[in-house]
Amino acid sequence: MARIVMKFGGTSMAGIERIRHVASLVKREAERGNEVAVVVSAMAGETDRLVQFCREAASVYDPREYDVVVASGEQVTSGLLAITLQGMGLNARSYMGWQLPIRASGHATGLIEGIDVAVLERVFDAAGIAIIPGFQGVTIDGALATLGRGGSDTSAVALAAAMKADRCDIYTDVDGVYTTDPRIVPKARKLDLVTYEEMLELASVGAKVLQTRSVGLAMRYRLPLQVLSSFEDVPGTMIVDDILGEAHMERNVVTGIAHDRNEARVTLVGLPDRPGAVAAVFGPLAEANINVDMIVQSVPRAGEKSDLTFTVPTASLAHSVAALEGVKADVGFTEILTDTNVVKLSAVGVGMRSNAGIAAKMFATLADRNINILAITTSEIKVSVLIPEEYTELAVRVLHTAYGLDAEDEA
Ligand code: ADP
Ligand code: ASP
Ligand code: MG
Repeated sequence: MARIVMKFGGTSMAGIERIRHVASLVKREAERGNEVAVVVSAMAGETDRLVQFCREAASVYDPREYDVVVASGEQVTSGLLAITLQGMGLNARSYMGWQLPIRASGHATGLIEGIDVAVLERVFDAAGIAIIPGFQGVTIDGALATLGRGGSDTSAVALAAAMKADRCDIYTDVDGVYTTDPRIVPKARKLDLVTYEEMLELASVGAKVLQTRSVGLAMRYRLPLQVLSSFEDVPGTMIVDDILGEAHMERNVVTGIAHDRNEARVTLVGLPDRPGAVAAVFGPLAEANINVDMIVQSVPRAGEKSDLTFTVPTASLAHSVAALEGVKADVGFTEILTDTNVVKLSAVGVGMRSNAGIAAKMFATLADRNINILAITTSEIKVSVLIPEEYTELAVRVLHTAYGLDAEDEA
């Protein structure tokens, strides 16, 4: 007997037919004698629809009320899966985030502070199946909270850690983690194994197959995590500590390419050249909880003004501009320019540590296609560039080929 968390994403839950199929997968695990908790997403497209309603209601909206709206999608699918399982003769029941509870630190992008598993232990003692809405928690004030887009993955991993599960299976609409988004590059290759470290980096730069925080949590608890398809019964990708052994010694230096369209570029024109100017810009953004990512500052000639360019999540752009307008006169920059038609491309691989030239290859490959680079950042196992959004598909494809990742390259 094992203790398992099964998580099903939006496409897997999109409609009663799909939910019936999910129920059959849950039934199969339960009938093997396993203790099963199921975490579900809202139906595909539902969270987007709900977020759009909030945007239409007001351009800058209250995060507490946003949570009330967007948490509803997962409530619907939890109930529907429980009803479906009951209809198949199984002892299944749904428990909302507040009923366990799943305690969240705050609104809209809340962090999970803890999960009480007493209710679940009682369910398992009675040989039952628990269905839990992903994405959802409750604040210390008892208000509904959500965990950020894609947060159901994190709900699933946190739940698995809290109930000391033997593994956490993330069922989605692709059959594993690929060298890049297989919907953009048909030649993308499925990876049997990926390290936590690489997956963490890939997710953080846009490989949305797993929410970044879910990978961080799994890594911390050394929780066996698996990505697999709810549509096809084939082996998925295991996320592991380390990849050892002959078969993997010749792995590519670059493991995968990811892209992220959810960044917006902000340029502050005419920033005075004096100590404290940059701090006065980023201080208010940090206070407003806005994550600044890539940063480029031009070095001015003595006494002249410079431009400061950086990226923020597109969803935070309106808040960012509001915060910057507030300090514009004091800091002394003259203009705030914004651009949402940009994409961040990244190449990730632990092999980069011992290999030079990965960044140079990226720049040369993009230059060959006449693609202009707007900003660059690097870390030990990653190189990222910001480019105009219209080149996304082309750039991902040519980099995938340049780094030797195409499926047909495999001997
Ligand atoms: P779910 O609704 O199941 O949570 P998501 O849409 O959040 O599913 O994540 C699955 C999607 O992630 C896939 O359909 C695929 O387009 C995308 N994706 C991006 N990068 C990768 C990658 N490297 N490997 C696999 N899928 C990826
Ligand atoms: N439904 C939420 C979203 O679309 C959470 C999730 O599916 O992971 O972001
Ligand atoms: Mg997802």
